Amino acid sequence: AVVVNRHSPEADHAVTASPHPTTEPVRTDRSDHGAWVFDWLDVRSGARTRAGLRRRLVPRSAGAEVLDLAGNDYLGLSRDPRVVAAAAEAARRWGAGATGSRLVTGNITAHTELEGELAEFCGMQSALIFSSGYLANLGVLGALGGPGTLLVADAYNHASLVDGARLSRSAALSVPHRDVTAMATALRDRRHKRAVVVTDSVFSVDGDLAPLGGISAACREHGAALLIDDAHGLGVLGSGGRGAAEAAGLAGRPDVVITATLSKSLGAQGGVVLGPQRVIDHLVDTARTFVFDTGLAPASVGAAAAALAVLRAEPGLAGTVVRRAETLAGRLRAAGLAVSEPAGAVLSIRAPSAADALSWAARCRTAGVAVGCFRPPSVPDHVSRLRLTVRADLTEEDLDRAVRVVVASAPNPTTTGGRT
Ligand code: PMP
Repeated sequence: AVVVNRHSPEADHAVTASPHPTTEPVRTDRSDHGAWVFDWLDVRSGARTRAGLRRRLVPRSAGAEVLDLAGNDYLGLSRDPRVVAAAAEAARRWGAGATGSRLVTGNITAHTELEGELAEFCGMQSALIFSSGYLANLGVLGALGGPGTLLVADAYNHASLVDGARLSRSAALSVPHRDVTAMATALRDRRHKRAVVVTDSVFSVDGDLAPLGGISAACREHGAALLIDDAHGLGVLGSGGRGAAEAAGLAGRPDVVITATLSKSLGAQGGVVLGPQRVIDHLVDTARTFVFDTGLAPASVGAAAAALAVLRAEPGLAGTVVRRAETLAGRLRAAGLAVSEPAGAVLSIRAPSAADALSWAARCRTAGVAVGCFRPPSVPDHVSRLRLTVRADLTEEDLDRAVRVVVASAPNPTTTGGRT
């Protein structure tokens, strides 16, 4: 089996840029190589500029004058005084950095306590914290995959799952988005001893939901494990924000592993894998992004623990986010825009082209509304979009302003409906 990436080879090529592409002349005169050895990068960046794919780092405004519909702070906890105070307190107590790998000097009781709290909250047997959600995905896929394992992955999975599959050296098959039948067929026809179905719960750009019940049934029927990336579900879906797996009745199942990030609803930083104790034990021994990475910084651990406490104390936050997203999506759709079906806090609007998406987002920003702009390689070619996220603390006036600005800034509302 092959790894099938949802991005076209050209998009991948334009962005990742192999050092000796066949289209670029090979230099035979090697003198003064310092002057030209990176010239190929200019060729590539020129191509990205022409394709509207250049990226710029824009400092986030610290004030309230910009309405932020681009971040992932779904519950508004990253600036919650309780969360910030807990971060500061943890840093004071344990230091600014973890000082080493968890397996050497970097393990503090706050790590273990947070793991216990996260596992208990999500209804899973055990948990292991990583430095980021990205590294959690790389780690778990490396540890569960490898020769002899077939990974069956949704075509729209997050880049960290795509990269984790590649790094794991597993056989990997990408199946069409949300296609349970294709997953079941791949599982049934496999020649590999083991199989893991890998899917986002809430997909990170369109915000739609994986059919977790159907996928889990297919896994059970064909003897496969299920790995769910609940980065956008934790804190948003399930009872009191216990996540998409809990909402689908899959929490605590012996064949289910969940990954999540501490950087979205929990407003902090870091990642976590939740699953059966034997899976977590296996990760401690073998997950390379756990073993060889410095433990998560104490401030992030403290912040995430405080955010989780807020989530427990205010279980209505999760439902509020979902309602805000539904309202925003409905109103943008009513204005004629091609809006995705949000399951949680994330929604997207199609743009006619990457350049249009870029200028649309820029006009929104000028009008005081920050939105995400997704172009290849974050989305497949020809489906560039604006990505909007909501927060639990958005007011009616915020939503009014968002709709007004996004609609007024649209490149040409009548052309945004089609696949372009
Ligand atoms: N999985 C998904 C679905 C995500 O959207 C993200 C964040 N963009 C990650 C994993 C990575 O999480 P982190 O930002 O903590 O590395």
